[in-house]
Amino acid sequence: MVFGLGSLFSALLDHSTGTRLKTKSNQRPKTEDQISMFRIGIGNDTHRLVEGKPLILGGVRIPFERGAEGHSDGDALTHALADAILGALCEGDLGVHFPDHDPQWKDADSLQLLARVCWLARERGFNIVNVDANVFLERPKLREHVGAMRDNLAKVLEVDAGYVSIKAKTGEGLDAVGRGEAVSAQAMVLLSGEK
Ligand code: MG
Repeated sequence: MVFGLGSLFSALLDHSTGTRLKTKSNQRPKTEDQISMFRIGIGNDTHRLVEGKPLILGGVRIPFERGAEGHSDGDALTHALADAILGALCEGDLGVHFPDHDPQWKDADSLQLLARVCWLARERGFNIVNVDANVFLERPKLREHVGAMRDNLAKVLEVDAGYVSIKAKTGEGLDAVGRGEAVSAQAMVLLSGEK
C-alpha cells in the first residue's frame, strides 16, 4: 500500500502525541500544505549552592540547608527548560529576554518566566509536545519531589504531566555537582506547529 506524505505525517503526529492531537473522524485529513512542523530545543543551566538561599527546582521548594545563588529564584530546571523552548524558537536565551541586571527579575518566580516563554511559543504558532529533563544534584535526594515538579511544569506548559519527564541524577562525587557546590539541569523539548 502506498501512502502520500500527508498520510505519513498525520500518522507520525498521532503516534507522537497520543490522543491529544489525534485527528477526529469528522475532520478532514491534513493536506501536504498543512503538515505539522516540528522544532527541537536543548537547554542547560547551573547555579552555585550557597547558604541563605532557597533551593527551588521545577517550582518546588526543596528543604535543604543551602540553595541556588542567582538573580531570580535560581530554579535551574525551569531555566534549562525555558532555554530549550527559546532555542527551539531560535529566540536566543533567557538572558536576552530576562537580563540579570534588570531589577524587575530580581528574585523572580521562574515559573512566571517560563509562562512568558510559553506564551511566546504560542504566539509563534507552536505547542509543546514533550519535555525530557535531567537534574544533577548530589544531595538531597529529589525522587520524592519529582512528581510535584512535573505537575508544576506541565501546568505552565499546558500539557499533561505524562509529557514531562524529569530524571534526578547525582554527580557521583565528581566535579562541582559531586562536591555539593552546584545544582545543574538539562532539558530537551519538542514543539509542533503548522506550516
Ligand atoms: Mg539560571
